[in-house]
Amino acid sequence: MPQNNTQDREVPRISRQNTMHATILVGPSKACWTLPLDLLTHASPFFRAALTGNFLEAKTKTVTLPCEDPQIFEFFVHWLYTSRFPALTDAPSLVAEWDPQEPGGETKTHNLVHLHVFCDRYQIRTLRIKTMEELYVHMEDPALNTFLPDLEIVQYAYENLGDDEAPLCRFLVDAQCHWASSQSWGADDTGGWPLGFLTGVLRLYSVFAQGSGGRESYLDACDYHEHGDEGERKACEGVF
Ligand SMILES: [Zn+2]
Repeated sequence: MPQNNTQDREVPRISRQNTMHATILVGPSKACWTLPLDLLTHASPFFRAALTGNFLEAKTKTVTLPCEDPQIFEFFVHWLYTSRFPALTDAPSLVAEWDPQEPGGETKTHNLVHLHVFCDRYQIRTLRIKTMEELYVHMEDPALNTFLPDLEIVQYAYENLGDDEAPLCRFLVDAQCHWASSQSWGADDTGGWPLGFLTGVLRLYSVFAQGSGGRESYLDACDYHEHGDEGERKACEGVF
């Protein structure tokens, strides 16, 4: 499995008495969460710096994230407490917001991409990789008949990750080339696709046209797992 940048840090004992908490205010309405401080700082170097450094946030133990979506933040909180995504054993209302099981699975795709970007922004590496793993499975399973990420999702990923070589951006290119049909390219929206995305698609189709690889042969989940070395990748292969 992918390595965890927090693995060398001691797992926090949040069950102990009188554990310290931090307040996180999310979105324009300042939706409020009170969370165990150690849990937040263990998961995220961003929160560690903000809540234990010399910033005002560390003194007040309060961080404000006015531009974030409270719904996406709640999925992050769920993962903080459970180390997994919402599942059928969780509150039905949360499960419905995570994945209402509609044809094409667009809500879950949207949630995974937005949660991935959130984790990239706040340096939550473990969950960032897990969102990538889950998106791969979500897209790849023929039984789910998942729609390709649409223009809005691709724009959101490229604009917010700011790196054409980010694992999610590379996956969006690979997924497009792997599954798209000619109907996937409408004349109306062609100008909206990010330049880095279009360049990636053209480059990959050029490789196919020259006879190297093809639509059926190249998707490999480990390409998007941020493995540190070949040994780590070998240990992961076979799991996916
Ligand atoms: Zn892997």
